[in-house]
Amino acid sequence: MIRKLLSLPLLLVAATAHADGSPQWANAAGADGAKCLAELKAAFNGSAAKFTAHAPMTKPNKQGCGMPQGVTVTRGPAGITWSPALEIDCTLAAELPKIEAIVQEEARALLGGEIKRIETLGAYACRTSKGPLTTAYGGKGVLSEHAFGLAIDLKAFVPKKGKAVTIAKDWGKDTKAGEFLANVRYRLRKETAITHVITPDYNAAHRDHLHVDRGLPWGWWAP
Ligand SMILES: [Zn+2]
Repeated sequence: MIRKLLSLPLLLVAATAHADGSPQWANAAGADGAKCLAELKAAFNGSAAKFTAHAPMTKPNKQGCGMPQGVTVTRGPAGITWSPALEIDCTLAAELPKIEAIVQEEARALLGGEIKRIETLGAYACRTSKGPLTTAYGGKGVLSEHAFGLAIDLKAFVPKKGKAVTIAKDWGKDTKAGEFLANVRYRLRKETAITHVITPDYNAAHRDHLHVDRGLPWGWWAP
């Protein structure tokens, strides 16, 4: 009886957090959107970058999803075209100068030239996780960081000259392309605010892309 009474508040907390995704929303909405946009404009100014800002959101939608300050990026600051255009939160877009610089440095060193286009399997998507969050909260799962515009699924890097480097074909290979992907993955974690890079080594759902997010550190859902 006592044990039942004690466990009730914990269950309520977990259910509430799952229903409205509030820890993740709070993480996404923790930044000042207007300030982020102003900084993004300044960071992209004078570069080839192109982006448009969405209307800000003060709360998530009914499913618990949303971007507090969404942006659409068609081309990043190092001249990389994103295909399709990136729909992401401003706080993730703010990492693009570093992300693209790393990609171009590694491409020059290992692929003999720069990347002109990055193909993705999407960014913003109102859905649950296919990664470690799938089994959070007793197997119910939680929203993906994609549901807040805080994640991008990288599928292929297309150089100005030469063949595209794809995750499906080149990940884990002892080749220049394989080394390029390994170095990009390592440096994104080490040198940027990216929290996770999930690779094909993790599970079959990630066999053809690198999931890159700036979400909460894993384990936030544990009681
Ligand atoms: Zn993903």
